[in-house]
Amino acid sequence: MIEVCTVGGYEEVGKNMTAVKYKDEVVLLDMGLQVDKYINVSDEMEDNRIHFKTLLKGDAIPRDEFIKKWKKMVKAIIPTHGHLDHVGAIPYMAPKYDAEILCTPFTSEVLKAILADKETSIKNKIKTLNQDSVYKISENITIEFINTTHSTPHTIMAAVHTPEGSVLYCNDFKFDNFPVIGKKPNFKRLRELGSRKKIKLLIMDSLYSGMARKTPSESIAREMLRDVMLGVPSKDKAVIVTTFSSHIARLKSIIDFGKKMNRKIVFLGRSLAKYTYAAEVAGIVKFSKNVEICSYKSQIKKKLREIEKKGRDKYLIVATGHQGEPNAVLSRIVDNKLKFRLFKEDHVIFSCTVIPNPINVANRDILEKKLKNHNVRIFKDIHQSGHASREDHRDLIHMVSPEQIIPAHGDISKTSNLVDLAQELGYELGKTVHLMQDGKKLEI
Ligand SMILES: [Zn+2]
Repeated sequence: MIEVCTVGGYEEVGKNMTAVKYKDEVVLLDMGLQVDKYINVSDEMEDNRIHFKTLLKGDAIPRDEFIKKWKKMVKAIIPTHGHLDHVGAIPYMAPKYDAEILCTPFTSEVLKAILADKETSIKNKIKTLNQDSVYKISENITIEFINTTHSTPHTIMAAVHTPEGSVLYCNDFKFDNFPVIGKKPNFKRLRELGSRKKIKLLIMDSLYSGMARKTPSESIAREMLRDVMLGVPSKDKAVIVTTFSSHIARLKSIIDFGKKMNRKIVFLGRSLAKYTYAAEVAGIVKFSKNVEICSYKSQIKKKLREIEKKGRDKYLIVATGHQGEPNAVLSRIVDNKLKFRLFKEDHVIFSCTVIPNPINVANRDILEKKLKNHNVRIFKDIHQSGHASREDHRDLIHMVSPEQIIPAHGDISKTSNLVDLAQELGYELGKTVHLMQDGKKLEI
């Protein structure tokens, strides 16, 4: 018998964590933050002074009291990729477990950067495994990392293989046949697992199960960027682009077109510096060859002064602040805190969508109003999502033909859409497809 506890991320988007138990051994899949609640809790507080209990009280990390009895059985902690809602709770929670952390090289570098930012360390050993590799953690449990695509590099689907069958954990993926960096998902392996009837349980991202489409490839986002960066005249104008710092493929496209524009490319902001460094160390891209990266406030100010002096139209500025975060570089430019002036019809390109929570929506609204006051040109939503949609979900289910399914990564409004799809494919609610809540257990 395999037991699964859906610890976190089954009633909201965030703080993902799932425990899989076979006999007396447990594997933890993801250990993430609920980022909005984390920001609420950590507001006004130095990063390294936030404690586990504060986060727990603020509902910002998974409640692992649900698996209290399993604590000593935990053998491995597996963050599937480097996003904070999957890896961000590790500094606070992992030390409670005598278990090693298994992840891909980029995820490992992101984790190390998070730990360095908090000026802390953890006793857990971090072991890196490449995508499409297999690791035996005990006599009974083997972990397989299956390569997939998402909006950050080195994302994997994790298969937990036991003598009684496997659990396949696919939280955060898209099926991109034309990725800008890295390989497309390992469809061959997924089909193989399916044809061998290996998968007892599929736990999967249900975020866009209600959207009747296939999520467009990252190469479409690249073409959208090409269109606004190379197709719109920008002579004599400042051009500022902002995007997710962890979206290394997107940053690569921005650099490629920046070079075609014959502009010097500068990255301004700490998180851009952090993730691009992680990508370099993990051997994914070499940004520093083509880009000047400024991390600290004084460095950023100096660089912007230089840009003003040498000619604003000679540079492509990539800045943090795509969600309108008040302390990010873009907001500080707009508020004239960095002494860099915006002029009429300068270009500001948002290569992202607004993450729909009230804080972001309000922040972005304020930022856009201020940008409009400067009379700049705004190019919004130059973006494609990193999450699969309903027709990708259907393909995944067909490929791996799981015996049972648990929808994850959202509240009931999202998970119930995946239940609906599963029912369409012949699964039965409560028998072979399960609506879980945080802290619930399922035996298979
Ligand atoms: Zn993600």
